[in-house]
Order: sequence, then structure tokens, then C-alpha cells
Amino acid sequence: MTKIVAGRSCLVLAPHPDDETLGCGGVVMHKLAAWSHVEVIVATDGAASHLDDPTCTTSRDALVEMRERETRLACGELGLEPDHVSFLRFPDGALAQHARDLRDRLAEEIAARRPDEIYVCALVDGHRDHVALAQAVRHLAGEGRLGGAIHWEYPVWSFDFRSWRPPGRTNKAGYVLGVVQMLRTLRAAHVSSVSIKGLQARKRRALDQHRSQVGLLEEEPDWPGLPEAFLSFFFRDREVFFHIPPVQEFR
Ligand SMILES: [Zn+2]
Repeated sequence: MTKIVAGRSCLVLAPHPDDETLGCGGVVMHKLAAWSHVEVIVATDGAASHLDDPTCTTSRDALVEMRERETRLACGELGLEPDHVSFLRFPDGALAQHARDLRDRLAEEIAARRPDEIYVCALVDGHRDHVALAQAVRHLAGEGRLGGAIHWEYPVWSFDFRSWRPPGRTNKAGYVLGVVQMLRTLRAAHVSSVSIKGLQARKRRALDQHRSQVGLLEEEPDWPGLPEAFLSFFFRDREVFFHIPPVQEFR
């Protein structure tokens, strides 16, 4: 059984600004405390979070700049150096439309860093950008382009059962199908978890740096934040990860 080891270097791949902290904030702190090299790459520009909100008076460019600034602050709270956080700036909400470019960029970034481990959002998260990023990394793994890195997925939207429904299925049957699929996924998954006891307060301070996402933005007090009931999953005693075995183990 593959275990998560603090002494291994890692690359955290986040579809949006804030996923790195929600899914991996505790593991990042553990690794940095063990002097391991950690880098974070955010795939999309994060501009879609409030652009369609009727109260939004902020321009797209300003939103992108704001979300990158928030990510650097959040990662700084976790202990990361600013130059260990980078942004691929694919359009938020449209990662799947850039699948080939995304794979090529990821392959380049992985080859340049050669991390011991790669953490990416879970394929079962349901959100289209999360699915696209998880699929890109699985595709690279299938081609042997992860440089031998141990492949982990971290759940974010998997904690919200509404995300389990297959795309386009909004009725009751869709929910049932979603539950069945999630149970199948969990039965097949190699689940591991890491204690974050004692680190939750710092993880929360890091998340709160994503002020536009948690409803703390002074200039836009009407912007809704992520619901506390959802956020509570990320501040329990343990962070959960799915180990994705190398392709040859299936053969
Ligand atoms: Zn996300």
C-alpha cells in the first residue's frame, strides 16, 4: 500500500485558486516542515468565479490578478515561497476545450521539476475543470510522462453529493446514478489519509487569504463565499487522497 511520506518532494496541481489549500493544505505544511520541495501550479485563471455575478463590478483582468495575489498569500501562509507558485492561466470553466495544450504544458512543468509525488484534484469531483485536469494527468500517466512520480488525487467537490450526478442529469435518477458511481469509485480506490491535527487553524488562515472565495472581500461585501457546511469537510482531522496506481499495474 503506497503511503504519503512528508520527506518526498511534490507538485500540487490545482484547477482553480483555492483548490490547492482546500485539498492539500495540510500535506503541503507537513512536507515543508520536513524540508521537502513543494510547488503549486494553478491551471485556470479563476476569472469565472464572480464575473457572472450581477453585483460584480470588477473587470476580468482585475479578477485574475486578484485571485493570483490571493493564491500567493494563501500559499505563503502554508509556508511556500512566492516563486514556488505558478499559474498556467487557461480560461476558467473551459479547461476541457484546451486538453491538448494543457497536457503539453503539464508535461513540460513536470519534466522541469521531476517531483517525487503529484497531487491533482479527483476525477470524481464532477466539476468540469476538475475532471479535465484529473483526466490530463491520468492521460500523461498512461503515456509514462509523470517522470515516475507517485500519483495522488485529492477530493474537493466530491464532498458535495450534488457534484456526483453525471453531466446533464439533474433529476432524481441522476442522483441515484451518481451515488452508485461514487460507491463504485470508492470501492476501487486506494484511499489514504493524512492527519492534520493541530494544523487546521493555519489551514483556515491560508484559505481565508482567498478572500474573494470565502466572502471576506472588503470591496465586494455582497459576494457570496463557499458555504461553511461544505468548507467544514476540509478542516476535519484528516485530509483524504486517492492513490492512482501506475498503468502497468493494471496489465
Ligand atoms: Zn475548483
